[in-house]
Amino acid sequence: MKFGVLALQGAFGAHCSTLRELGVSARLVRTPSDLASVDAIVLPGGESTTMTKLLTSSGLFDPLAAAVDDGLPVFGTCAGLILLSSTVEPEGADVRCLGALDVTAVRNAYGRQIDSFEQPITLRDDDETFDAVFIRAPVIARVGPSVEVLATLDGRPVLVRRGPVMAATFHPELTADPRIHERFVRLATSTAPASRS
Ligand code: GLN
Repeated sequence: MKFGVLALQGAFGAHCSTLRELGVSARLVRTPSDLASVDAIVLPGGESTTMTKLLTSSGLFDPLAAAVDDGLPVFGTCAGLILLSSTVEPEGADVRCLGALDVTAVRNAYGRQIDSFEQPITLRDDDETFDAVFIRAPVIARVGPSVEVLATLDGRPVLVRRGPVMAATFHPELTADPRIHERFVRLATSTAPASRS
């Protein structure tokens, strides 16, 4: 099974390294043909408005939306979560959503003073907390009935899932703890449609 990491902008390198440390094949995705060669994809953190522009200009937006609709396993972190959401606030930002997760993401919701911080989060199905790094992170303000909450911080969802789609408001690739990526690898392995390449 081949994992891809969207590499148009943002924190894609560390995702690739973490996936490779887990022993899975990981490659960068920059074009529609790169996308066609992977069986699962990570949408990294970065800037969701810039990623929207680059997804459109690279011709990747429509094939990515179609692949996600067809059940391609996808893991979005931070800006990647914003792209996967069904609704983004504040309204009016130049973010085009894939609508793969029925959640409302509020961009930059932790405010300016604490726009970056590290906090232990509570993972469902795990006794140990996970040290999560939040960088100008969004808050998930609403979760639809199809979405399962896998981890919380102060009672708010920070890691969610619907079928083969998983998303985090934080950056698991920046912590030397592969448990979140392991979950995605397990999820992708158990839910991926027949090989696309
Ligand atoms: N604030 C960024 C955005 O709105 C997300 C930050 C991140 O991915 N670390 O896209």
